[in-house]
Amino acid sequence: MNFELQEEHRLLVDMVRNFADKELVPAAAELDIQERFPEENLKKMAELGLMAMTVPEEYGGSGMDNVSFALAMMEVGRACASTAVTMSVTNMVAEGIYRFGTEEQKRKYIPPIASGEYAAASFALTEPWAGSDAGAIKTTAVRDGDYYVINGEKIFITSGAYAGVMMVAVVTDKSKGKHGISVLLVEQGTPGLTIGKAEEKMGQRGSNTVSLVFEDCRVPAENLLGQEGDGFKIMLADLDGGRIGIGSMACGVMRACLEESIKYSKGRVQFGRPISQFQAIQWMIADMATDLEAAENMVLRAAWLKDQGVRFTKAASMAKLFATEAANRAAYKAVQIHGGYGYTREFPVERFYRDIRVTTLYEGTSEIQRIVIARNILGRL
Ligand SMILES: Cc1cc2nc3c(=O)[nH]c(=O)nc-3n(C[C@H](O)[C@H](O)[C@H](O)COP(=O)(O)OP(=O)(O)OC[C@H]3O[C@@H](n4cnc5c(N)ncnc54)[C@H](O)[C@@H]3O)c2cc1C
Repeated sequence: MNFELQEEHRLLVDMVRNFADKELVPAAAELDIQERFPEENLKKMAELGLMAMTVPEEYGGSGMDNVSFALAMMEVGRACASTAVTMSVTNMVAEGIYRFGTEEQKRKYIPPIASGEYAAASFALTEPWAGSDAGAIKTTAVRDGDYYVINGEKIFITSGAYAGVMMVAVVTDKSKGKHGISVLLVEQGTPGLTIGKAEEKMGQRGSNTVSLVFEDCRVPAENLLGQEGDGFKIMLADLDGGRIGIGSMACGVMRACLEESIKYSKGRVQFGRPISQFQAIQWMIADMATDLEAAENMVLRAAWLKDQGVRFTKAASMAKLFATEAANRAAYKAVQIHGGYGYTREFPVERFYRDIRVTTLYEGTSEIQRIVIARNILGRL
Protein backbone atom coordinates (compact mmCIF):
# COMPACT_ATOMS: atom_id res chain seq x y z
CA MET A 1 0.00 0.00 0.00
CA ASN A 2 1.31 3.43 -0.91
CA PHE A 3 -0.22 6.81 -0.09
CA GLU A 4 2.41 8.78 -2.05
CA LEU A 5 1.43 10.61 -5.21
CA GLN A 6 3.45 9.62 -8.25
CA GLU A 7 5.87 12.12 -9.79
CA GLU A 8 3.49 12.81 -12.71
CA HIS A 9 0.67 13.56 -10.24
CA ARG A 10 2.84 15.94 -8.20
CA LEU A 11 3.89 17.81 -11.33
CA LEU A 12 0.26 18.09 -12.44
CA VAL A 13 -0.83 19.42 -9.04
CA ASP A 14 1.96 22.04 -9.10
CA MET A 15 1.07 23.09 -12.62
CA VAL A 16 -2.69 23.39 -11.95
CA ARG A 17 -2.20 25.10 -8.59
CA ASN A 18 0.13 27.71 -10.12
CA PHE A 19 -2.32 28.34 -12.91
CA ALA A 20 -5.28 28.48 -10.53
CA ASP A 21 -3.56 30.92 -8.15
CA LYS A 22 -2.52 33.17 -11.00
CA GLU A 23 -5.59 33.05 -13.23
CA LEU A 24 -8.61 31.65 -11.40
CA VAL A 25 -8.40 32.99 -7.83
CA PRO A 26 -8.20 36.67 -8.88
CA ALA A 27 -11.23 36.37 -11.19
CA ALA A 28 -13.48 34.24 -8.96
CA ALA A 29 -15.19 36.98 -6.94
CA GLU A 30 -16.02 39.04 -10.03
CA LEU A 31 -17.42 36.06 -11.94
CA ASP A 32 -19.67 35.41 -8.95
CA ILE A 33 -20.91 38.98 -8.57
CA GLN A 34 -21.48 39.53 -12.28
CA GLU A 35 -22.81 36.02 -12.93
CA ARG A 36 -20.32 35.81 -15.77
CA PHE A 37 -19.50 32.51 -17.48
CA PRO A 38 -15.75 31.78 -17.13
CA GLU A 39 -15.03 31.55 -20.86
CA GLU A 40 -11.46 32.88 -20.65
CA ASN A 41 -10.61 30.47 -17.82
CA LEU A 42 -11.94 27.52 -19.79
CA LYS A 43 -10.00 28.44 -22.91
CA LYS A 44 -6.76 28.51 -20.95
CA MET A 45 -7.65 25.27 -19.19
CA ALA A 46 -8.22 23.60 -22.55
CA GLU A 47 -4.72 24.70 -23.56
CA LEU A 48 -3.42 23.01 -20.41
CA GLY A 49 -5.24 19.79 -21.33
CA LEU A 50 -7.85 19.95 -18.56
CA MET A 51 -11.08 19.56 -20.54
CA ALA A 52 -10.92 15.95 -21.74
CA MET A 53 -8.36 14.71 -19.29
CA THR A 54 -9.06 10.98 -19.28
CA VAL A 55 -9.68 10.59 -23.02
CA PRO A 56 -6.73 9.08 -24.95
CA GLU A 57 -4.56 11.46 -26.92
CA GLU A 58 -5.55 9.93 -30.26
CA TYR A 59 -8.98 11.53 -29.78
CA GLY A 60 -7.53 14.85 -28.69
CA GLY A 61 -7.70 14.14 -24.95
CA SER A 62 -4.84 14.24 -22.45
CA GLY A 63 -4.65 10.49 -21.82
CA MET A 64 -4.34 10.97 -18.06
CA ASP A 65 -5.68 8.72 -15.34
CA ASN A 66 -8.65 9.42 -13.07
CA VAL A 67 -6.41 10.20 -10.11
CA SER A 68 -4.97 13.06 -12.21
CA PHE A 69 -8.49 14.26 -13.02
CA ALA A 70 -9.44 14.22 -9.32
CA LEU A 71 -6.27 16.10 -8.32
CA ALA A 72 -6.79 18.75 -11.01
CA MET A 73 -10.44 19.15 -10.01
CA MET A 74 -9.38 19.71 -6.38
CA GLU A 75 -7.05 22.53 -7.43
CA VAL A 76 -9.60 24.21 -9.68
CA GLY A 77 -12.29 23.78 -6.98
CA ARG A 78 -10.01 25.44 -4.43
CA ALA A 79 -9.77 28.46 -6.73
CA CYS A 80 -13.20 28.85 -8.36
CA ALA A 81 -16.16 26.51 -7.94
CA SER A 82 -18.01 28.00 -10.95
CA THR A 83 -15.11 27.10 -13.21
CA ALA A 84 -14.69 23.74 -11.51
CA VAL A 85 -18.25 22.53 -12.08
CA THR A 86 -18.04 23.55 -15.73
CA MET A 87 -14.78 21.61 -16.05
CA SER A 88 -16.23 18.57 -14.30
CA VAL A 89 -19.33 18.30 -16.49
CA THR A 90 -17.34 18.93 -19.68
CA ASN A 91 -14.89 16.14 -18.80
CA MET A 92 -17.82 13.87 -17.98
CA VAL A 93 -19.35 14.44 -21.41
CA ALA A 94 -16.00 13.95 -23.21
CA GLU A 95 -15.59 10.68 -21.36
CA GLY A 96 -19.17 9.61 -22.09
CA ILE A 97 -18.63 10.15 -25.81
CA TYR A 98 -15.32 8.29 -25.64
CA ARG A 99 -16.78 5.32 -23.75
CA PHE A 100 -20.02 4.93 -25.64
CA GLY A 101 -19.52 6.75 -28.95
CA THR A 102 -18.86 5.46 -32.43
CA GLU A 103 -15.48 6.13 -34.03
CA GLU A 104 -17.06 8.99 -36.02
CA GLN A 105 -18.68 10.53 -32.94
CA LYS A 106 -15.39 10.41 -31.03
CA ARG A 107 -13.45 11.99 -33.88
CA LYS A 108 -16.09 14.65 -34.46
CA TYR A 109 -16.96 15.77 -30.93
CA ILE A 110 -14.06 15.13 -28.56
CA PRO A 111 -11.32 17.22 -30.25
CA PRO A 112 -13.34 20.48 -30.12
CA ILE A 113 -14.15 19.81 -26.45
CA ALA A 114 -10.51 19.11 -25.62
CA SER A 115 -9.10 22.04 -27.60
CA GLY A 116 -11.50 24.62 -26.22
CA GLU A 117 -13.13 25.23 -29.60
CA TYR A 118 -16.30 24.31 -27.70
CA ALA A 119 -16.38 26.43 -24.54
CA ALA A 120 -17.98 23.50 -22.69
CA ALA A 121 -20.16 20.42 -23.08
CA SER A 122 -23.46 19.58 -21.36
CA PHE A 123 -25.18 16.59 -19.84
CA ALA A 124 -28.95 16.97 -20.11
CA LEU A 125 -30.99 14.56 -18.02
CA THR A 126 -33.16 16.53 -15.55
CA GLU A 127 -36.70 17.63 -16.45
CA PRO A 128 -39.28 19.62 -14.46
CA TRP A 129 -40.97 16.37 -13.34
CA ALA A 130 -37.89 14.14 -13.25
CA GLY A 131 -34.99 15.06 -10.97
CA SER A 132 -33.94 12.27 -8.59
CA ASP A 133 -36.39 10.03 -10.44
CA ALA A 134 -34.45 10.37 -13.68
CA GLY A 135 -36.15 7.35 -15.21
CA ALA A 136 -39.37 9.39 -15.36
CA ILE A 137 -38.18 11.73 -18.12
CA LYS A 138 -40.73 12.57 -20.80
CA THR A 139 -38.71 14.21 -23.57
CA THR A 140 -39.31 12.07 -26.64
CA ALA A 141 -37.28 11.34 -29.75
CA VAL A 142 -39.18 9.80 -32.64
CA ARG A 143 -37.32 8.24 -35.55
CA ASP A 144 -38.13 9.85 -38.88
CA GLY A 145 -35.98 8.42 -41.67
CA ASP A 146 -32.36 9.42 -41.03
CA TYR A 147 -33.33 11.70 -38.14
CA TYR A 148 -34.69 11.69 -34.63
CA VAL A 149 -37.23 14.40 -33.85
CA ILE A 150 -36.97 15.61 -30.26
CA ASN A 151 -39.77 17.24 -28.27
CA GLY A 152 -39.64 18.13 -24.60
CA GLU A 153 -37.90 20.18 -21.96
CA LYS A 154 -34.77 19.87 -19.83
CA ILE A 155 -34.03 22.06 -16.83
CA PHE A 156 -30.98 22.99 -14.72
CA ILE A 157 -28.54 22.14 -17.49
CA THR A 158 -24.99 23.19 -16.62
CA SER A 159 -23.32 25.20 -19.44
CA GLY A 160 -26.36 24.68 -21.68
CA ALA A 161 -26.03 28.09 -23.34
CA TYR A 162 -22.32 27.59 -24.07
CA ALA A 163 -21.97 23.88 -24.78
CA GLY A 164 -20.84 22.94 -28.28
CA VAL A 165 -22.41 19.52 -27.81
CA MET A 166 -24.82 18.00 -25.30
CA MET A 167 -25.63 14.47 -24.24
CA VAL A 168 -29.43 14.55 -24.12
CA ALA A 169 -31.48 11.75 -22.55
CA VAL A 170 -34.69 11.05 -24.50
CA VAL A 171 -37.46 8.47 -24.53
CA THR A 172 -37.39 6.47 -27.76
CA ASP A 173 -39.80 3.75 -26.59
CA LYS A 174 -42.38 4.74 -24.00
CA SER A 175 -43.56 1.16 -23.47
CA LYS A 176 -40.20 0.05 -22.06
CA GLY A 177 -39.80 2.45 -19.12
CA LYS A 178 -36.11 3.04 -18.29
CA HIS A 179 -35.15 0.57 -21.00
CA GLY A 180 -36.81 2.85 -23.53
CA ILE A 181 -34.43 5.75 -22.80
CA SER A 182 -31.66 6.65 -25.26
CA VAL A 183 -29.00 9.36 -25.51
CA LEU A 184 -28.62 11.73 -28.46
CA LEU A 185 -25.72 14.07 -29.10
CA VAL A 186 -27.19 17.47 -29.90
CA GLU A 187 -25.13 20.35 -31.25
CA GLN A 188 -25.61 23.92 -30.12
CA GLY A 189 -27.64 25.88 -32.65
CA THR A 190 -29.63 22.89 -33.93
CA PRO A 191 -32.97 24.27 -35.22
CA GLY A 192 -35.76 23.48 -32.79
CA LEU A 193 -33.54 23.81 -29.71
CA THR A 194 -34.18 26.93 -27.64
CA ILE A 195 -32.01 27.87 -24.69
CA GLY A 196 -33.94 29.26 -21.71
CA LYS A 197 -33.01 32.12 -19.43
CA ALA A 198 -30.11 31.45 -17.06
CA GLU A 199 -31.11 30.53 -13.50
CA GLU A 200 -30.28 33.14 -10.86
CA LYS A 201 -28.51 30.98 -8.33
CA MET A 202 -27.39 31.19 -4.72
CA GLY A 203 -23.86 30.13 -5.59
CA GLN A 204 -21.65 28.95 -8.44
CA ARG A 205 -23.08 32.00 -10.13
CA GLY A 206 -20.38 32.08 -12.80
CA SER A 207 -21.53 28.68 -14.03
CA ASN A 208 -24.36 28.68 -16.54
CA THR A 209 -27.57 26.81 -15.66
CA VAL A 210 -30.39 26.89 -18.19
CA SER A 211 -33.44 25.08 -19.47
CA LEU A 212 -33.49 23.57 -22.95
CA VAL A 213 -36.69 23.45 -24.96
CA PHE A 214 -36.91 21.01 -27.88
CA GLU A 215 -39.65 21.64 -30.44
CA ASP A 216 -39.46 19.31 -33.42
CA CYS A 217 -35.69 19.44 -33.09
CA ARG A 218 -34.21 17.19 -35.80
CA VAL A 219 -30.99 15.40 -34.98
CA PRO A 220 -29.23 12.99 -37.38
CA ALA A 221 -29.83 9.35 -36.42
CA GLU A 222 -26.05 8.84 -36.45
CA ASN A 223 -25.95 11.03 -33.30
CA LEU A 224 -27.43 8.23 -31.21
CA LEU A 225 -24.89 7.48 -28.45
CA GLY A 226 -24.71 3.72 -27.86
CA GLN A 227 -27.78 1.66 -28.70
CA GLU A 228 -31.44 2.62 -28.48
CA GLY A 229 -32.62 1.74 -24.98
CA ASP A 230 -29.17 1.96 -23.38
CA GLY A 231 -29.54 5.63 -22.47
CA PHE A 232 -30.41 5.27 -18.80
CA LYS A 233 -27.43 2.97 -18.20
CA ILE A 234 -25.12 5.30 -20.15
CA MET A 235 -26.20 8.41 -18.22
CA LEU A 236 -25.85 6.66 -14.84
CA ALA A 237 -22.48 5.12 -15.73
CA ASP A 238 -21.19 8.52 -16.83
CA LEU A 239 -22.52 10.09 -13.61
CA ASP A 240 -20.44 7.64 -11.53
CA GLY A 241 -17.32 9.33 -12.93
CA GLY A 242 -18.92 12.77 -12.59
CA ARG A 243 -19.38 12.17 -8.88
CA ILE A 244 -15.62 11.81 -8.51
CA GLY A 245 -15.36 15.23 -10.15
CA ILE A 246 -17.89 16.86 -7.81
CA GLY A 247 -16.36 15.17 -4.74
CA SER A 248 -12.95 16.47 -5.81
CA MET A 249 -14.29 19.98 -6.30
CA ALA A 250 -15.78 19.83 -2.80
CA CYS A 251 -12.34 18.87 -1.42
CA GLY A 252 -10.92 21.93 -3.17
CA VAL A 253 -13.52 24.26 -1.66
CA MET A 254 -12.88 22.65 1.72
CA ARG A 255 -9.15 23.29 1.41
CA ALA A 256 -9.85 26.92 0.54
CA CYS A 257 -12.09 27.21 3.64
CA LEU A 258 -9.35 25.73 5.80
CA GLU A 259 -6.60 27.95 4.37
CA GLU A 260 -8.65 31.11 4.78
CA SER A 261 -9.64 30.13 8.32
CA ILE A 262 -6.04 29.47 9.36
CA LYS A 263 -4.94 32.82 7.92
CA TYR A 264 -7.78 34.79 9.46
CA SER A 265 -7.63 33.16 12.89
CA LYS A 266 -3.92 33.89 13.21
CA GLY A 267 -4.43 37.55 12.34
CA ARG A 268 -7.63 38.40 14.16
CA VAL A 269 -6.99 39.55 17.74
CA GLN A 270 -9.71 39.46 20.41
CA PHE A 271 -9.24 39.55 24.17
CA GLY A 272 -5.58 40.46 23.55
CA ARG A 273 -4.61 37.41 21.53
CA PRO A 274 -5.12 35.84 18.08
CA ILE A 275 -8.38 33.90 18.03
CA SER A 276 -6.36 30.85 16.82
CA GLN A 277 -5.27 30.54 20.45
CA PHE A 278 -8.83 29.80 21.59
CA GLN A 279 -9.59 26.12 21.81
CA ALA A 280 -13.04 26.58 20.27
CA ILE A 281 -11.40 27.89 17.08
CA GLN A 282 -8.68 25.24 17.16
CA TRP A 283 -11.29 22.48 17.32
CA MET A 284 -13.15 23.85 14.34
CA ILE A 285 -9.88 23.95 12.38
CA ALA A 286 -8.96 20.44 13.54
CA ASP A 287 -12.37 19.13 12.44
CA MET A 288 -12.09 20.83 9.05
CA ALA A 289 -8.62 19.41 8.47
CA THR A 290 -9.74 15.91 9.52
CA ASP A 291 -12.80 16.03 7.26
CA LEU A 292 -10.61 17.24 4.40
CA GLU A 293 -8.14 14.43 4.83
CA ALA A 294 -10.89 11.80 4.94
CA ALA A 295 -12.66 13.29 1.91
CA GLU A 296 -9.49 13.51 -0.19
CA ASN A 297 -8.63 9.91 0.59
CA MET A 298 -12.13 8.72 -0.34
CA VAL A 299 -12.19 10.66 -3.59
CA LEU A 300 -8.71 9.55 -4.63
CA ARG A 301 -9.53 5.94 -3.76
CA ALA A 302 -12.66 6.08 -5.92
CA ALA A 303 -10.58 7.53 -8.77
CA TRP A 304 -7.93 4.87 -8.26
CA LEU A 305 -10.54 2.09 -8.34
CA LYS A 306 -11.84 3.53 -11.60
CA ASP A 307 -8.29 3.48 -12.95
CA GLN A 308 -8.03 -0.21 -12.01
CA GLY A 309 -11.05 -0.91 -14.20
CA VAL A 310 -13.07 -2.33 -11.32
CA ARG A 311 -16.57 -1.34 -10.22
CA PHE A 312 -16.39 1.98 -8.39
CA THR A 313 -20.05 3.05 -8.16
CA LYS A 314 -20.29 2.65 -4.38
CA ALA A 315 -16.90 4.27 -3.76
CA ALA A 316 -17.81 7.25 -5.99
CA SER A 317 -21.17 7.74 -4.25
CA MET A 318 -19.57 7.48 -0.81
CA ALA A 319 -16.85 9.94 -1.80
CA LYS A 320 -19.35 12.42 -3.27
CA LEU A 321 -21.67 12.09 -0.25
CA PHE A 322 -18.94 12.51 2.34
CA ALA A 323 -16.90 15.19 0.56
CA THR A 324 -19.86 17.43 -0.28
CA GLU A 325 -21.41 17.20 3.18
CA ALA A 326 -18.02 17.72 4.85
CA ALA A 327 -17.35 20.73 2.61
CA ASN A 328 -20.68 22.24 3.68
CA ARG A 329 -19.64 21.76 7.32
CA ALA A 330 -16.28 23.35 6.56
CA ALA A 331 -17.84 26.37 4.86
CA TYR A 332 -20.14 26.85 7.84
CA LYS A 333 -17.17 26.77 10.21
CA ALA A 334 -15.11 29.06 7.99
CA VAL A 335 -17.83 31.72 8.18
CA GLN A 336 -18.10 31.16 11.94
CA ILE A 337 -14.35 31.65 12.40
CA HIS A 338 -14.48 34.89 10.39
CA GLY A 339 -17.26 36.24 12.61
CA GLY A 340 -19.35 39.06 11.11
CA TYR A 341 -16.73 39.67 8.42
CA GLY A 342 -17.36 36.16 7.14
CA TYR A 343 -20.87 37.25 6.25
CA THR A 344 -19.60 39.99 3.94
CA ARG A 345 -18.15 39.92 0.45
CA GLU A 346 -14.90 41.28 1.86
CA PHE A 347 -13.82 37.70 2.55
CA PRO A 348 -14.09 34.78 0.12
CA VAL A 349 -15.61 32.42 2.69
CA GLU A 350 -18.97 34.10 2.07
CA ARG A 351 -18.77 32.87 -1.53
CA PHE A 352 -17.48 29.42 -0.54
CA TYR A 353 -20.51 29.02 1.74
CA ARG A 354 -22.92 29.76 -1.13
CA ASP A 355 -20.90 27.87 -3.76
CA ILE A 356 -20.73 24.63 -1.84
CA ARG A 357 -24.43 24.38 -1.00
CA VAL A 358 -25.48 22.93 -4.35
CA THR A 359 -22.97 20.09 -4.27
CA THR A 360 -25.23 17.94 -2.06
CA LEU A 361 -28.01 18.47 -4.62
CA TYR A 362 -26.69 17.98 -8.15
CA GLU A 363 -25.32 14.81 -9.73
CA GLY A 364 -27.53 12.96 -7.25
CA THR A 365 -28.65 14.44 -3.93
CA SER A 366 -27.14 13.12 -0.69
CA GLU A 367 -30.30 11.06 -0.23
CA ILE A 368 -29.83 9.46 -3.65
CA GLN A 369 -26.15 8.72 -2.87
CA ARG A 370 -27.30 6.90 0.28
CA ILE A 371 -29.78 4.90 -1.80
CA VAL A 372 -26.98 3.95 -4.24
CA ILE A 373 -24.65 2.99 -1.38
CA ALA A 374 -27.31 0.98 0.45
CA ARG A 375 -28.30 -0.81 -2.76
CA ASN A 376 -24.67 -1.77 -3.31
CA ILE A 377 -24.48 -3.16 0.22
CA LEU A 378 -27.91 -4.76 0.59
CA GLY A 379 -28.77 -5.52 -3.00
CA ARG A 380 -32.14 -4.55 -4.48
CA LEU A 381 -34.75 -5.30 -1.79
C1 LIG B 1 -26.94 24.41 -10.22
C2 LIG B 1 -27.48 23.13 -10.73
C3 LIG B 1 -26.88 22.50 -11.82
C4 LIG B 1 -27.39 21.32 -12.34
N1 LIG B 1 -26.82 20.76 -13.46
C5 LIG B 1 -27.45 19.71 -14.07
C6 LIG B 1 -26.98 19.23 -15.33
O1 LIG B 1 -25.98 19.71 -15.87
N2 LIG B 1 -27.66 18.22 -15.93
C7 LIG B 1 -28.78 17.66 -15.36
O2 LIG B 1 -29.34 16.76 -15.97
N3 LIG B 1 -29.24 18.10 -14.15
C8 LIG B 1 -28.60 19.11 -13.51
N4 LIG B 1 -29.07 19.58 -12.30
C9 LIG B 1 -30.26 18.96 -11.72
C10 LIG B 1 -29.94 18.15 -10.48
O3 LIG B 1 -29.23 16.99 -10.82
C11 LIG B 1 -31.25 17.88 -9.76
O4 LIG B 1 -31.65 19.12 -9.18
C12 LIG B 1 -31.14 16.81 -8.70
O5 LIG B 1 -30.95 15.56 -9.30
C13 LIG B 1 -32.35 16.73 -7.77
O6 LIG B 1 -33.53 16.71 -8.51
P1 LIG B 1 -34.69 17.75 -8.12
O7 LIG B 1 -34.08 19.09 -8.03
O8 LIG B 1 -35.80 17.54 -9.06
O9 LIG B 1 -35.12 17.33 -6.67
P2 LIG B 1 -36.14 16.15 -6.29
O10 LIG B 1 -35.77 14.90 -6.98
O11 LIG B 1 -37.53 16.63 -6.41
O12 LIG B 1 -35.80 15.96 -4.74
C14 LIG B 1 -36.34 16.80 -3.72
C15 LIG B 1 -35.89 16.19 -2.38
O13 LIG B 1 -36.46 14.87 -2.24
C16 LIG B 1 -35.44 13.94 -1.99
N5 LIG B 1 -35.78 12.66 -2.63
C17 LIG B 1 -36.19 12.43 -3.88
N6 LIG B 1 -36.37 11.13 -4.08
C18 LIG B 1 -36.06 10.50 -2.92
C19 LIG B 1 -36.05 9.13 -2.48
N7 LIG B 1 -36.38 8.12 -3.29
N8 LIG B 1 -35.67 8.89 -1.20
C20 LIG B 1 -35.33 9.89 -0.37
N9 LIG B 1 -35.33 11.19 -0.72
C21 LIG B 1 -35.68 11.49 -1.98
C22 LIG B 1 -34.18 14.56 -2.63
O14 LIG B 1 -33.00 14.01 -2.11
C23 LIG B 1 -34.38 16.02 -2.26
O15 LIG B 1 -33.99 16.22 -0.94
C24 LIG B 1 -28.53 20.73 -11.73
C25 LIG B 1 -29.11 21.34 -10.62
C26 LIG B 1 -28.61 22.51 -10.13
C27 LIG B 1 -29.28 23.15 -8.94
